[in-house]
Amino acid sequence: MNLLGNFINGEQRDSNSERCSAVYNPATGEHTLNVSLSTVAETKTAISVAQAAFESWSKVTPLNRARVMFKFKALVETHIDELAEMITLEHGKVLSDAKGELTRGIEVIEFACGIPHLLKGENSLNVGRGVDSFSLMQPLGVCAGISPFNFPVMVPMWMFPIAIAAGNSFIMKPSEKDPSVIMRIAQLLTEAGLPDGVFNIVNGDKESVDVLLEDKRIQAVSFVGSTPIAEYIYSAGCKYGKRVQALGGAKNHMLVMPDAKVEQVTSALMGAAYGSAGERCMAISVAVCVGDETADNLINKIKSEVEKMRVGPGSGLTEEAHMGPLISKVHAEKVRGYIDSGVEEGADLLIDGREFSVKDHENGYFVGPTLFDHVKPGMRIYNEEIFGPVLSVVRVNSYQEAIDLINSHEFGNGTSIFTQDGDSARQFCEQIQVGMVGVNIPIPVPMAFHSFGGWKRSVFGPLNVHGNDGVRFYTKMKTVTARWPKGEQTTSNAFSMPTMK
Ligand code: NAD
Repeated sequence: MNLLGNFINGEQRDSNSERCSAVYNPATGEHTLNVSLSTVAETKTAISVAQAAFESWSKVTPLNRARVMFKFKALVETHIDELAEMITLEHGKVLSDAKGELTRGIEVIEFACGIPHLLKGENSLNVGRGVDSFSLMQPLGVCAGISPFNFPVMVPMWMFPIAIAAGNSFIMKPSEKDPSVIMRIAQLLTEAGLPDGVFNIVNGDKESVDVLLEDKRIQAVSFVGSTPIAEYIYSAGCKYGKRVQALGGAKNHMLVMPDAKVEQVTSALMGAAYGSAGERCMAISVAVCVGDETADNLINKIKSEVEKMRVGPGSGLTEEAHMGPLISKVHAEKVRGYIDSGVEEGADLLIDGREFSVKDHENGYFVGPTLFDHVKPGMRIYNEEIFGPVLSVVRVNSYQEAIDLINSHEFGNGTSIFTQDGDSARQFCEQIQVGMVGVNIPIPVPMAFHSFGGWKRSVFGPLNVHGNDGVRFYTKMKTVTARWPKGEQTTSNAFSMPTMK
């Protein structure tokens, strides 16, 4: 069995750790690889390498750093088929979805290509007579990223392209469940001309993450994953004096108004609820229907659409599946357990994916699309993030009841409203306590030049990922106030608070 090591100083290195984690093909259940869980010493070596690389990389001009990003973007595009196959093999999502993930990642590289512009900072002439002020946006040093399994390329790309383009060096700690594709990405960065040591990968678990949190040489930590771990990373990182952005879990509601067009809502909801088997932090897992008629019409339409869904392996079929397997056997069991709990707690199970299996892939981690009606707050399937293909319908009597429901949930990552009425949509955008909002758009993921992040327990830390927040996160601003007096200094000593004349 192959054993995946680390990527340090521009090369793949075997790990001498005695611990490893198994990687599986979720469509077949086949054990394909082991990944080393790096030791404390190996993680510290990566930090030393990144620290040394930072000294010279931070002095490369922003224009030349951007040129590396341009080449990197072209290489990712050239290799998109190969990279998508690698994602599908270990994550399970269907190939077109894997390519979609890569495209969203490429968009962040494109944003990072604009780094000379993004680092221009602020400039004010004559803040006082003959006095100018300007800002320098300087890199921080060694930054670290810890990413989840569900986007093995896109989420790391929310982080490192901007960090590196801004002049930092970087250590990535990918998910141990699908670690291969990011190792290939590291090779492409080297091929693009990135100096050795600027981008490094340490495969591992809590042991290496704790080193990244505690080591004084790490200046900033970006984390994306589940809420309990996000909260831990945020508090531990802050305790050790680091800048931290930590994005957590979600429970995303779609508000369906009585005037919404049921065909439009259904086609938006099918992909948002069941695409990528529901393993997206922006998946819609709750449809909040205003009025029974709205709910009944939507449910009828969803039922007929689910019958047409193709569920199967992410690649190798003549006609691509709509939805692949879940990431692991343990996770598939957990999702089935949630469906059991929904039944026990009194929700109406209209479509049951628990016994679902795919011919010739009986050992794959498949759970079929599942639909619950009459779901209520307090039930585990409503309160908790399931991260599977399980859609809950909650019935409410009014728009205001829907707003109160959504605003009461502990998570606030994404949400959307489907309506024909501009006034309701406008009010929704204003009143809703959620970070990313869609109007007649089911998965409102902001583009790379805007920032991505939720509210409430979906995020810890003041700065979100990419867009302006991303640039601010990976740079520290210095403000210079300068005067060039002519001739000899004639002003007298001033002991009171300086003010501009
Ligand atoms: P996870 O929290 O289990 O793991 C994320 C990362 O943390 C992995 O690299 C893992 O190795 C590491 N980790 C796990 N336990 C740790 C510990 N005790 N100490 C230190 N590090 C630890 O998440 P996951 O299952 O890989 O991903 C799914 C979760 O990620 C879902 O909750 C999903 O909503 C969330 N997610 C959120 C966003 C967002 O933008 N808010 C995006 C993608 C995924």
